[in-house]
Amino acid sequence: MSDWDKEVDILVIGSGAGGLMAALVGADNRADVLVVEKADKWGGTSATSGGGIWIPGSDVAKQAGFEDNLDDAFTYLRKLSADNVPDDNIRAYVDNAAPMLRWLMANTPVQYMAFPYPDYHAENPGGSAKGFRTHLPSPLDGKALGADIRTLRFASPAASLFGYLNWHFSETYELLYRQKGWMKNLVRNMAKYWLDLPFRLTSRKDRRLTLGNALAGGLRMALNCKGVPLWLETPLKELVREGDAVTGAVVEKGGKPYRIRARKGIVLAAGGFDKNQAMRADNAPLYPAARYSGGVTSNTGDSIVAGEAIGAGTMNMQSAWAAPVFYVPGEDRGRLCTVERALPGCIMVNQSGERFLNEAASYHVVGQQMARRQAEHGDADPCWMIFDHEYRHKFPMGPLYPLMPTAMHGKGVRSILKKGRSIEELAGRIGVDPARLSAAVSRFNAGAAKGEDPEFHRGEAAYDKMYGDFRHQPNPCLRPLDKGPFYAMPIYPGDIGTNGGLMTNARGQVVDGEGKAIPGLYAVGNNAASAMGESYPGAGVTLGPALTFGYVAARHMTGGN
Ligand code: FAD
Repeated sequence: MSDWDKEVDILVIGSGAGGLMAALVGADNRADVLVVEKADKWGGTSATSGGGIWIPGSDVAKQAGFEDNLDDAFTYLRKLSADNVPDDNIRAYVDNAAPMLRWLMANTPVQYMAFPYPDYHAENPGGSAKGFRTHLPSPLDGKALGADIRTLRFASPAASLFGYLNWHFSETYELLYRQKGWMKNLVRNMAKYWLDLPFRLTSRKDRRLTLGNALAGGLRMALNCKGVPLWLETPLKELVREGDAVTGAVVEKGGKPYRIRARKGIVLAAGGFDKNQAMRADNAPLYPAARYSGGVTSNTGDSIVAGEAIGAGTMNMQSAWAAPVFYVPGEDRGRLCTVERALPGCIMVNQSGERFLNEAASYHVVGQQMARRQAEHGDADPCWMIFDHEYRHKFPMGPLYPLMPTAMHGKGVRSILKKGRSIEELAGRIGVDPARLSAAVSRFNAGAAKGEDPEFHRGEAAYDKMYGDFRHQPNPCLRPLDKGPFYAMPIYPGDIGTNGGLMTNARGQVVDGEGKAIPGLYAVGNNAASAMGESYPGAGVTLGPALTFGYVAARHMTGGN
């Protein structure tokens, strides 16, 4: 075919972590690379995220004194993942994750540290209760991005303070427990933000990049050094298949079709179908609500559809990275709830006023349980987070900040917060049977007073304890809710993205329904069916594989290092 508007070696669709990593490794192996992005902002959900990556056997974990074993990591993932995920895909991840991280840290400004963050199912064979498989990025100075910082996505409202101030994971505990020096550091960070002049006069963006902003920002800095272009507002429309192979794609540029030939291949890295309501209803009925997804609004499954149209297979489309989320009316996504559920002084109940899960379990497990409960009983969408006066003034609850009077919060937050002088009064305000809610609270309180949760075992697993209040003993996750006023806030069965998608092999190549690789086509991140199946083994198992398979795919395409 000769009617191409442009030719490159590698065309990358989507500018999240998976796409930027593939582009960078491709460029480093002397390929001519182009990244096209549908939105007018780059970085995808990756930039809005915590930026955590789950990497077994990394050099940095070793330096921190943690000796990992890749066979243990494989055993751990294999047991949790779905039966239809091939061993080879899991093995490829386990084997390539640490080399990927070594490469990333050597070739970009992105630096990671291993954290004592327990695996989500640390008690399973091969799991790590000590953690050190989850890694978090160090903050970066975003000034090096020049004008590109203006089009980098903001951190999620769930991962920033007041919707604009970026914070690092290590600052979470400092703020949460108002540890020594917390106010000084907060004031210093705010001063730095407001005194970033003259930039502050034209942008709300925090140029101290942390978490997902640090990951995406650092990758882009490295791409800029290599001169790799990233075109915004250039969505993929269709793939061009000639014979067996995919040879190019049609994108939309300036409102017109634009044909790009890719000599070595195309990497589909356009995320999941997070915000495609119809696709969710058809494929993932357990997770029907696009509104509650934490994914960015431009993730509508376009490149899964484009892949299917040229014969690619799909897998586990029913699945999502499930999570309980708060939803503030008017916002374009749900706010992931991670820490709050484990802190003492709160419980979650369904619309019948009953607890039905261990609130402190990982967000994925809680999200799945809520979704299943809703499908089976119709009383968990929303559930209610119930908390007492002490909790209200000590800890945040989603968008509600401690030490800040309710009246100082936005209208959206005020509209979802309910208050009652007693549990019975609160029950009336949220339409729950007062007697049942009161009985559930009494049952919980009786156990919590002894540091026990005989019904759901909250605070027993290593992961539960990590987010509990370590100062509160004997169980850092449990305290009776005994002094009013009491509060309630709706919490929804949501997700942080879908994770079923195009079927790929251990090299990141897209395969057809029979498992045969389609030459010239690769998929990474949430665009591909995850090697985790329907599970969530630990913090960073979505970005870790996105980066790792981006690295693997680009090396396969270029035969490079
Ligand atoms: P994305 O980062 O979403 O990138 C996809 C890009 O493709 C987007 O920019 C999109 O606009 C673009 N695109 C879509 N359609 C087209 C098209 N037709 N043409 C061109 N471009 C297109 N995961 C972790 O592992 N660790 C964490 O710490 C973590 N924290 C999180 C915190 C929050 C608050 C949230 C919401 C999520 C978190 N996640 C985390 C999940 C993680 O962010 C996502 O799973 C991950 O970012 C997906 O990466 P991706 O590269 O596949 O897609």
